[in-house]
Amino acid sequence: MENIDKCPVCGNEQAKDFMQLQDWFLTKEDFTIAQCEQCGFLYTNPRPPANELGKYYKSEEYISHSNTSKGLINGIYKFVRAYTIKQKYQIIKVYKSGNKILDIGSGTGEFLNFCKHSKWEVQGIEPDEDARNFSKQEYGLPVNEEAYLQELQDASFDVITMWHVLEHVPDLNERMQTIYRLLKNKGIIVIAVPNPDSNDAKYYEQYWAAYDVPRHLYHFRQKDIQKLAAKHNFHVKDVYPMKFDAFYVSMLSEKYKNGKINYWNALRRGLKSNFTAAKNTNYSSVIYILGKDGENLK
Ligand SMILES: [Zn+2]
Repeated sequence: MENIDKCPVCGNEQAKDFMQLQDWFLTKEDFTIAQCEQCGFLYTNPRPPANELGKYYKSEEYISHSNTSKGLINGIYKFVRAYTIKQKYQIIKVYKSGNKILDIGSGTGEFLNFCKHSKWEVQGIEPDEDARNFSKQEYGLPVNEEAYLQELQDASFDVITMWHVLEHVPDLNERMQTIYRLLKNKGIIVIAVPNPDSNDAKYYEQYWAAYDVPRHLYHFRQKDIQKLAAKHNFHVKDVYPMKFDAFYVSMLSEKYKNGKINYWNALRRGLKSNFTAAKNTNYSSVIYILGKDGENLK
């Protein structure tokens, strides 16, 4: 295990234990989420070193990396995915100042393929070899591994998206610097992450499926994203909900907490989470739109 001795957001060295929990999804190993005593940021600590993280993704069930349609949850997931791809596209369309898009963590490529068919010039980055090959063979997408980020030209994208990706990235600050470099001045960054301030997170506590340790290294609240953005010369322009995540995460959390899914309870928790969030935007997962500071200067 690797110990993180400084808060990834503010650099403070003092942290306390916030929560003990398990990798409910795969290994059943114990993990701890630490909380920075200065800024309150939540991060998984200690955590597997970057070169050992791979084994925590080795599961047929890890649906963001597979297209096998087994079981009700996966079936619902795929149905919802088709719907949310359109929603994601509607959001980026609002801000577009050009048509070059980079999707980091492009998975099996469905979102990028939708953009391609809507006349965008697309580029994907995907660390998982199987997912990368699937998106190349199935949709003919240009998708490369993570090291390729360093090959891309400065200021070459109008939109950079990371859908449920930033919480997985070992070097958070380096990644923020890279996307700053790659983004045009008037471009936007789209970051979607789970929200531990959501009502479903508070209800399920250590069983909340979107803690997903140790795959999720960080657990971003809204103020954390604002601080991280400011640290890297971005600002948060807007916030959008991902309403389906409340239901999906509640279903998985039911399974982790009770060993089986009480669909009625998951539905109720999802509705309650979205209803509560209508007042404070603390949805189960939140989409942040970031712009560069001084974006209108030239
Ligand atoms: Zn901190």
